[in-house]
Amino acid sequence: MKNKRGLLLVVSGPSGAGKGTVCADILKRYPEFKLSVSATTRPPRPGEEDGVNYFFLTREEFEKRIKEDGFIEWAEFCGNLYGTPKANVEALLNDGIDVILEIEAQGALKVKKDFKDAVLFFVVPPTALQLKERLTGRGTETEEKIKARLSQAEWEFSQAENYKYILLNDKVEKATERFISIVKAEKYGVDKNTEFINKFAQDLKNIK
Ligand code: 5GP
Repeated sequence: MKNKRGLLLVVSGPSGAGKGTVCADILKRYPEFKLSVSATTRPPRPGEEDGVNYFFLTREEFEKRIKEDGFIEWAEFCGNLYGTPKANVEALLNDGIDVILEIEAQGALKVKKDFKDAVLFFVVPPTALQLKERLTGRGTETEEKIKARLSQAEWEFSQAENYKYILLNDKVEKATERFISIVKAEKYGVDKNTEFINKFAQDLKNIK
């Protein structure tokens, strides 16, 4: 029973919840998944590479791509634009590959609206305090930026009910295993196997 089209898996949740770490762990241990590389107008952080972590664009280049309908979704987050390039994701899904989008909440909601089959995960650490500690511990942002991200996290948390699954990130390996279990279950959803069901029904008729 093979799904023809890949699953569109949206991994979102407040900044500092560990979305990036969980996605990296999933990809390392389950390389059959592909992560969509986003475009952004944010400047690269030390160690980030163009085309690997993000496609780093100027605001003009980004806006041009919006006009060309080049994004599945895009959003402004803390003063920068972020977007999921359309062509690559569509090609992978059509090849039957499961694609992960690691994106913030506004983008996740757009995907939910446009892709009825998308599976939305909301990554959370066990406590709010841990969220703050993770934001502070990253050491790459100023105090002001951390405050902005905490306010953003508050808003993002208020969106939890729009997601299908909570992905508790107490330990990254455990979060990965939960993700894999959910994906396996999703693949057996009746809605994702209509072709199998229709063929089975037809075959039953034929052998009567
Ligand atoms: P950062 O600047 O820390 O890399 O990312 C900031 C936020 O933007 C994170 O929550 C990240 O998940 C989100 N993000 C990354 N790429 C995209 C994208 O293509 N679309 C949207 N909507 N958010 C994204």
